[in-house]
Amino acid sequence: MELDEIFDSVESRSLFKNKQIMQSNHSPEDIPHRDEQIKSVASILAPSLLGEKTSNLFIYGKTGTGKTLSVQHVANELTKRSGENKILRVEYLNCKLKKVADTEYRILAELIKKLGGSVPATGLPTDQVYLRFLDILENSPEKLLILILDEIDQAVKKIGDEFLYNLTRLNSELNNTQIIVVGISNDLRFLDMIDQRVRSSLSEEEIVFPPYNAVQLQDILRKRANEAFKPNVVNEGVIAKCAAYAAREHGDARRALDLLRVAGELAERNSDKKIKIEHIDNANEKIEKDKILDVVETGTKQFQMILYSIIDLVDKDENKSVFTGDIFDFYDQLCKKVRIDVLTQRRVSDIIAELDMLGLINARVISKGRHGRMREIKLAIPNNIKKKSKEILEDSLGL
Ligand code: ADP
Ligand code: MG
Repeated sequence: MELDEIFDSVESRSLFKNKQIMQSNHSPEDIPHRDEQIKSVASILAPSLLGEKTSNLFIYGKTGTGKTLSVQHVANELTKRSGENKILRVEYLNCKLKKVADTEYRILAELIKKLGGSVPATGLPTDQVYLRFLDILENSPEKLLILILDEIDQAVKKIGDEFLYNLTRLNSELNNTQIIVVGISNDLRFLDMIDQRVRSSLSEEEIVFPPYNAVQLQDILRKRANEAFKPNVVNEGVIAKCAAYAAREHGDARRALDLLRVAGELAERNSDKKIKIEHIDNANEKIEKDKILDVVETGTKQFQMILYSIIDLVDKDENKSVFTGDIFDFYDQLCKKVRIDVLTQRRVSDIIAELDMLGLINARVISKGRHGRMREIKLAIPNNIKKKSKEILEDSLGL
């Protein structure tokens, strides 16, 4: 009885009808503003239903432009359509997952597992694993395997492009089954990073997913919000504001959905009946904060050492800025203190450039007369997050 009251009151206070719909792993039935891309993917892959080996396909676009959602949608439809006739098999692998794609061996082992085989977690020479993969493909009843490799840029960053080369060459050794590779990348420059031979075979066909504009993001948000929230919780102004923020973040639908979901959670926690603009501003701040802390926390030790050096030096400087030379000296001392290897100045400069690219610092090249050119660094981490970042770094580095 008493418990019922507690449960009832939580339910009646909740602003969500079905929160799961706002999560980024939810796949909506309806995918507005991606008709053209979905049709292109489907047209390129459709002949596979008749057992024809189609071109390989390469898809790219910034994060949150609906690539994963759209390709999985086509993959599901193809699988449904091919039904019981054993012509086609579609497999999806996300290369960003840890422990899946950090070595060529693991990728292959994962693919073999998906096809119903198995390999020991380690121990076999790579060419043996390839033989197993070939073997399982030759003995599978399907004539075609569409292999979707999502976030393929992540795997190549870690293990190079040789596995892609090997993968695209396998068809010449297969008699009963052929592989169609669908690669998806968030990194627009990915194709420039890989070997010419891999590139031409992977991107026989290419499809670009452009960023969504604010109006398109509104449509996406409105559809999902209608199912996810109770009536009258989300008004048009709120939708427009979320869309405007996300449009600024390179048209990222994930960001738009996250913003609205977090704003809903903040409103709920505050016992408000509606989402207000201020909840969105707070949600934006929270998401930014979590993003920065995540980068700080998951960086390599060397990355953390250099970031720590910058924070510490900038904190002590009255102009709140510091030069690359000072960073290197401080970092050098710090490495000796915690007994880790000192990187060369060149590698330190690379990491500083990475920090700049991630938006944690702002670096500016200035001329120092006859001393040549130097970079002046300012911290871009907001003050309220700086303290927390420093704690994370001290903890991780044992300082
Ligand atoms: P990408 O793979 O390009 O990074 P996703 O396909 O993962 O992007 O999409 C990011 C998020 O936005 C997911 O939650 C997805 O469901 C949602 N989303 C993207 N495009 C649409 C759309 N047109 N309609 C509804 N939701 C979408
Ligand atoms: Mg994706």
